[in-house]
This record gives sequence, C-alpha cells and structure tokens, in this order.
Amino acid sequence: APPGGRCLEIRGLVKRFGGLRALDGLELEVRRGTITGLIGPNGAGKSTLFDCITGFTVPDGGQVLLDGEDITGMAPHEVFARGISRTFQIPRLHRRLSVLENLMLVPPGQLGERLAGPWLRPGAVRRQEEAIRRRALEVLDLLELTRLAHAPAEHLSGGQRKLLELGRVMMADPALVLLDEPGAGVNPTLMRTLAAAIERLREERGITFLVIEHDMELVARLCDEVVVVSEGRKLTAGPPDAVRKDPAVVEAYLGD
Ligand code: ADP
Ligand code: MG
Repeated sequence: APPGGRCLEIRGLVKRFGGLRALDGLELEVRRGTITGLIGPNGAGKSTLFDCITGFTVPDGGQVLLDGEDITGMAPHEVFARGISRTFQIPRLHRRLSVLENLMLVPPGQLGERLAGPWLRPGAVRRQEEAIRRRALEVLDLLELTRLAHAPAEHLSGGQRKLLELGRVMMADPALVLLDEPGAGVNPTLMRTLAAAIERLREERGITFLVIEHDMELVARLCDEVVVVSEGRKLTAGPPDAVRKDPAVVEAYLGD
C-alpha cells in the first residue's frame, strides 16, 4: 500500500459502559507512514478506542477500517494477524521471565508463519527459534536493553518495562502500532531512546504509529499529526503546534 494514504479510519465509533458513553461518535484518520498523536483529558476514551480497534472490546456502533477493510468487532488474534500490534497503559509482561524470553514469546501467527512456513521440515523448528532469537537481540540493541537481556522482567524500572513492551510489539513486524502512554513514568534519558526507536521504525520499516501520550514535548517532537479527543469525540486535529494553541484544546484540559 502506498504511503500517505489512509491506514486507519474510525467512523462514528460508539462504546457505552452502562449509561456512560466512553466513545460518542468518534471520527479519526491515521495516514500511512505517519506518527499520529492521540491526546485528551483522562477519561476521554483513548484507551477504549485502542480496545475497540484491537478487538479487546466490541463497539456498540460505528466502524473501524484498516486499509479500507472493515475490521469492526474482529477477535484480537484476527486484528493482530492483519498487522496491528499494541501496548497497554500498564505493561503486560511475564515478570519471572527474562527480558529476552519476553521478546521471544511472540504470539504465534505473524512471525512464525513468515519465517518457517506451514511445512515444518526437520531442523525448521530450531532454525525458526534461532531466527526469533536473532530478531530479539536486534530489538534489544535498538532499545539499548542488551545488557539486561537475561535479567527477569520484574527487575526492570517502570521506564525499562515500557521499552520492553515496545520491543514485544516490534517482534511481530507490525504495519500499525498503537502505543498507550509509552512515555508515562519514563525518565528523560529513556524517553530519548524511546523516541529515537519509534522514529527509526517509522523511517526504516515504514511502520505507522498511533500514540496516546500526555507529554506534549514528546508529542510535539514525534508526531506529524495530533488528534484531540474529549468526552468520546474528536475535538480537533492538526499539526502539534497548531493543536497546542487551539483555545478549545486549552479549555478541555483546564476542565480536566
Ligand atoms: P482514557 O484512556 O482517555 O483516560 P478510557 O478509555 O480509559 O479513557 O475511559 C473512558 C471512560 O470509560 C472513563 O470514564 C472510564 O471510567 C470508562 N471505562 C473505561 N473502561 C471501562 C470498563 N471496562 N467499564 C466501565 N467503564 C469503563
Ligand atoms: Mg487511558
């Protein structure tokens, strides 16, 4: 698919929890090859949007389109198989396993099939495992986590766990990555590593990113486009500098 076209389209998305409309007719577009920021006050519906896109929850109305295909209501593994990968606001890691093992435990599907094919020959399993390990070591290098490869995940700092979550996403070779507050609790040094890794993945592999983030410095540095949501709807969208100065955005945050 050519860059710059629509990768993800959200049309009139609605999600109710009892009487609450967490998403209330949300509209948004993410262009292929961009890093798009998703900002908005707490409770605006940002994480719920990720849950609807990735099949963790089923929306009550509206549509999710990926490269023009309607993927609304698909199961998480079906969405994943189509190249969408995500992180969670609170990292979901295997605490007792090492950093390297966490990376090597990619959900089967994408990576495995591509490397080995469905016709497993003698030796193929071992070769596949070697390929996964090589890939994991590359990812660790990119994220500057190599020296922690054999440390249990539970020994990592909050910021390092965020990096490891990004690493797990990268193992799957996704086309579209959804990051839920990657910078939360991350110190400035790790933040630079994180931002550089995201930029490199976009440039070298053409990965498209949709990033929920509160840190406006990170958003301004990283994002081509920012979408602001409030109370389950799109408030505005545009380049970071324009959005930052938008009075409606300032007001939405003051009301938080
Ligand atoms: P954000 O990520 O923008 O901070 P969320 O998407 O987490 O916001 O939440 C949006 C609204 O939906 C909030 O009011 C939240 O309390 C509510 N909500 C989210 N998930 C659930 C759930 N599983 N059950 C009930 N209410 C929920
Ligand atoms: Mg959230």
